[in-house]
Amino acid sequence: MSYDLDKSLKSLFSYRIANESLIYIPDLSNDFFESQNLGKFPLYESKIYKDDPIIVFFPNQNFHWFEEKESKIIFHQDIISSAFYLLSGWQEIKASKDILGRFLFSDSVFQEISHAYLPYVNVYFEIIASGIEKITKTKVLPKNQNGKLIVSHDIDFIYAPAKYRLKKYLKSLQIFSFYKLAISLIFKRYPQTIFDKIISYSQRFSFQTHFFFLATDKKMARFHNADYRLSDLAIRYMFNKLKNLKIATSLHGSLGTSKVANWLKKEMSFFDNLDQRFHFLYFNSKAFVSIMEEAQVKCDYSIGFNDKIGFRRGIALPFYLFDFEKNKASTVIEMPLAIMDVSLFLSQYMNLSLEEAKQEINKIVSYTQKYNGILVINWHFDSFDEEMYPERIQLFEYILQLFSHKN
Ligand SMILES: [Zn+2]
Repeated sequence: MSYDLDKSLKSLFSYRIANESLIYIPDLSNDFFESQNLGKFPLYESKIYKDDPIIVFFPNQNFHWFEEKESKIIFHQDIISSAFYLLSGWQEIKASKDILGRFLFSDSVFQEISHAYLPYVNVYFEIIASGIEKITKTKVLPKNQNGKLIVSHDIDFIYAPAKYRLKKYLKSLQIFSFYKLAISLIFKRYPQTIFDKIISYSQRFSFQTHFFFLATDKKMARFHNADYRLSDLAIRYMFNKLKNLKIATSLHGSLGTSKVANWLKKEMSFFDNLDQRFHFLYFNSKAFVSIMEEAQVKCDYSIGFNDKIGFRRGIALPFYLFDFEKNKASTVIEMPLAIMDVSLFLSQYMNLSLEEAKQEINKIVSYTQKYNGILVINWHFDSFDEEMYPERIQLFEYILQLFSHKN
């Protein structure tokens, strides 16, 4: 693998070979980044930075991150290889236990340390910046470490929770509740009421919000896509309202679109931007980047774990995806997904109570704010059915509150 730094950076940095530049970072990866090592875990250790245990790969025994020597900053740890290992998704190119073959938290290098709440790559950047500050005596780090919340909603099912409730009412002979909900469904008021509730949050709090809609209601094998069509009255109502409020609506790529560029492109053509997130976060970590590049995706929101919250690529900032097919950085920007409602509550995933979920949220939010990251969350449309999922709504409001005076 070759490294070529931008010319303007060369006087500041040197990597692998020490020269006249102010900062030198050693390459300690040897021949690890050869294709036969795809999917493998390299050696790693935790080093302390601001009281937090920060993982570095290919560790040097030296305790310090860097030292000042003859008006130069000499790094002891190879944070460039560490960042590349995490950002590229090198660890993801391997077999998975998941039914759809998706990469799970439990298959990851983070499994041993039990969480992925620390955005390590943000920390590496901060350590480099502190080295620059030391040697140039100029301030480069921002004064306030705030973090930023980005809210997103996948619109998978808009009728499903109501249909489930109807069956429940009928079974327990709650006739009045049954009729009330049935009429609301027949006149399409049910999805509109839920949608209006979701929208009211973005009016009360001023967060960047993003909606992802599926373009098909056709099943893929035994897996569901949408329970609506883009032409449905309820969906047209939502589209108009979102357009008036200038809230982004993008594609939620249906199952299989991560494998066929033309298919993905066709589904994106129903929307007026080139952002997207794959349904079920279903994609093959090696091939999907070149598929997205071919389909001209500008910004992807798919890279998060299903079975756990956290930073799957070790970063809480947008970054360019690495393309393993072409062996180079792609033009696709990733907005890393950190928290999904279902990951916290479903029994096959984290299976938490509301109070336990709040504790986990506190940890990831405090790290995000400490290291000035972005926190992308995904709360599904059907999670806003109050009777079905009161704890999901309470947790959503709890997260908004944690950022309400910071954004
Ligand atoms: Zn989905």
